[in-house]
Amino acid sequence: MDKDLLEISDGKLYGNNDMAKVSCHDCAGCSSCCRDMGESIWLDPYDIFQLTRNFGKTMEELLAKEVEFHVEDGLILPNIKMAEVEPKCSFLNEEGRCSIHAFRPGLCRLFPLGRNFEDGKLTYFVLKEACPAPNKSKVKISKWLGVPNLKSYEKFLVEWHGLTKRLRSYYAEHAEEEAVLKAINMKFLQLFYLTAYSEDDFYQEFDKRTKEMELFLCSLGVCQ
Ligand code: SF4
Ligand code: SF4
Repeated sequence: MDKDLLEISDGKLYGNNDMAKVSCHDCAGCSSCCRDMGESIWLDPYDIFQLTRNFGKTMEELLAKEVEFHVEDGLILPNIKMAEVEPKCSFLNEEGRCSIHAFRPGLCRLFPLGRNFEDGKLTYFVLKEACPAPNKSKVKISKWLGVPNLKSYEKFLVEWHGLTKRLRSYYAEHAEEEAVLKAINMKFLQLFYLTAYSEDDFYQEFDKRTKEMELFLCSLGVCQ
């Protein structure tokens, strides 16, 4: 485990079948991790698939209120928007509870866990000072995440992490190639965020779009 990870974690890496001390007893009146989050709750394509499907809204409609884009290392990514009157998540209700609990984004499901990607594998770590709730109890990570078809979900996350990491590195090394970077960003947004996913099989469709992105990158001379 590298030094930075060691500093923020409890020093262990967990698989999805492991038990970790993360259960905060239903938050008991706390909603601090849904407030003042700025642009940090970024959304991956599976999150957008879930939000658009469950709300019956298009991405464009979500962008009118609950979601916005931000730029991270040159990459344009969506995130949950804080409400305008008060810096809290747009989905936090009057009672301080998540109004989209059943289909909340991956980062919200994860908290206070973090993801570690290494050698094409995903493991988890506990962010040791992230959640102030006392006396947390142990829970199996797969149960904590509560995502159906976890194997496919984790495979998707590994591929998504690989693609975004590769694009970030490319952007950092080719900052002067503005036209190419703009073309990549437009394709990236269109393919993974702005084009609706079919109801049938998100993962199959994500694979198809990943292949299309790869062909596009190769056409620009950015092959893997
Ligand atoms: S900080 Fe911990 S206890 Fe508070 S809302 Fe977040 S997960 Fe729940
Ligand atoms: S989506 Fe739900 S869990 Fe996530 S920050 Fe918003 S209110 Fe909190």
